[in-house]
Formats: sequence, structure tokens, C-alpha cells
Amino acid sequence: MPITVVGSIAYDTVKTPFGERERMLGGAAVHFALAASFFDEVRVVGPVGEDFGEEQLALLRSRGIDVADVERVAGGRTFFWHGEYGWDLNSRETLDTQLGVFEGFAPKLSSRSRSSDVLFLANIQPDLQREVRAQMADARFVALDSMNLWIDIARDSLVQTIAQVDCVILNDAELRQLTGKPNLVAAAREVLSWGAPGSHEDGRGRGPSVIVAKQGEYGAALVTREGFFALPAYPLETVIDPTGAGDTFAGGFVGYIAAHPEEERSEELLRRAMAHATVLASYNVEEFGTDRVARLTGKEIVARIGELHAMTQFSGAPLALRA
Ligand code: AMP
Repeated sequence: MPITVVGSIAYDTVKTPFGERERMLGGAAVHFALAASFFDEVRVVGPVGEDFGEEQLALLRSRGIDVADVERVAGGRTFFWHGEYGWDLNSRETLDTQLGVFEGFAPKLSSRSRSSDVLFLANIQPDLQREVRAQMADARFVALDSMNLWIDIARDSLVQTIAQVDCVILNDAELRQLTGKPNLVAAAREVLSWGAPGSHEDGRGRGPSVIVAKQGEYGAALVTREGFFALPAYPLETVIDPTGAGDTFAGGFVGYIAAHPEEERSEELLRRAMAHATVLASYNVEEFGTDRVARLTGKEIVARIGELHAMTQFSGAPLALRA
């Protein structure tokens, strides 16, 4: 099923203990689209400025990504983000955010982007996320990401948006902040309670039925009304730049679901989606920005899925325990 993603298309300046890069291609929609493009057709919606390079669009096109709805704003500057990581790559400091063309952004989806069955609302102002959601009322699967900034300054709006999506993908700390629950599972269950199972005319529930909690280098957890699943991150000896790992994870997760339109959205399907998301994110962090995923191959994804499968299995051999 084709996927539409709306979110930032950016220039990122990033410093990690392993080096520094200036104004490289980034943005939530870009990282998501590159990852999801391994699974299905992706359409990107978002603004860029006059400073945005043709070669950046060419990179997206080279992965078959539809950039017809990337709007070039005359006289505008592309969204810019500057971040720095310390030795603990799980935490970062934002040094600068320049909204640029995002400041006056009013998303207008072409009929082609509107016709996608799957929608990913990357991290943008929650009112804008709802505007896009309204333009794709018939989408079969809608997922959302957000960040602490919107929980701080626009929580009510974010909660309203969450009530209109099927899947919420957030960092564990954001889930706790959003719900005020100190425990991850309790926080996820709280967000699930904002949806109503089976209330839709087509028998589907309204609101979120799938919660994914990203835990950085510790992996990710999946919470649904039916169950719980978790995977560690793929163990890497060298991590260079975690920027975009969350969006790449989301691209793998949502992309995998989109690529299985006939399959019921079962626990089993969601678990396989978690594995693919984990593998895509693991490649993203191996190099700066989009460098690694831009030259990733399907064969490499399959190889790492096999390794992840092997390292997360154990036998349930019965043992007579001492009372
Ligand atoms: P992640 O590391 O997955 O959280 O995503 C990092 C990406 O999000 C970077 O490429 C940034 O350009 C982008 N980003 C950072 N801050 C924002 C923001 N406030 N709104 C939208 N995108 C952002």
C-alpha cells in the first residue's frame, strides 16, 4: 500500500564524539522515507527553501520516492537543526532549531498523496498533523510520532491528534511525560485507553491500538490490547550518529505493515515489523545522516534480520524447579 509521510525535510548540523558534519540532508520525513522505500511506494509532503539542493531531491528519487509534493518556497530557508551528542548517545542537546519555511506551512496534499492507504505523521505541530489527517480520512493505517516540545506546549492538541490515529511511535520518556505514568507499560496502556475498540462503522476501533516505545540503544517495545513484545537494538560495536534513528525505525515499521495489505494486523505481523524497524535503524546509526541507508541493499537487510532472529530466540526447555 502506498505511504504518504508529512514532516521535516531538513539540513542538519550534527556533532558526536566521532566527528562533526555541517548542513547534511536530514529531517524526519527524509529518514522515514528512505527506510520505508525498501518496502513500498512513498510520497513525501513538506516544504523546503530556495537553498535546498537538487542533488538531495535526486537522492530521494533514486530510491523511487515521489517528491512531487515537496514544495519549494520562493525566498524561503529550509528547516535547520543543530544537535550535539556526548558519550551517552542516548541523550542529545539541541543547540539550534530554525523553522524557516515550516513557519507558514499549511499542508496541501495532491490527490495522489491523499490516495495513499497509509499515512505517517512525522514529528510536527499536532494541529498540522490533524490537518493532514483530515485530508486523508480514508487511510487504512495512520501512525504518528511527536516530541517533548509538543507535549510541553501543545499537549491537548497532541492528545486530540492521537485519538485519530491507529499507531503511536514515541520515545519511552515521551510516553511517560505524555501520560504522567512513571512506568512504560502503564503509560502505553493509558494511551491505548484513549482509543475505543470496535467503535468504528467498519468494526475497527477508533484511536490508537498499537503503541511502540523506542528506547534508543536498548531497543523498542510494542504494546497492544492483546499483548507485549520487545526487541533489543541490534548490537553494534560502532555507532557514529544516532540522528534520525527514530524516524528510520518508524519507516521500517510502517513500511513493513504497508507491504502486507492482505495480512490481518496481527501481533505476529507487528512483531516482524518491529524486527525490520530495528534492523533499518541499526544501519542508520552506523554513519552520519542518511549516508548508510542511502546505499543500503535489500540483501543487507535480510542478512541482519536473520542475525537478529537468531540472537533473540531461546528454547522454553522445561526445568523442574526447586520449590
Ligand atoms: P530523530 O533522531 O529520529 O529524533 O530525528 C532527528 C531528525 O528530526 C533530524 O533530522 C532533524 O532535522 C529533525 N528534527 C529535529 N527537531 C525537529 C522539530 N522540532 N521538528 C521537526 N523535525 C525536527
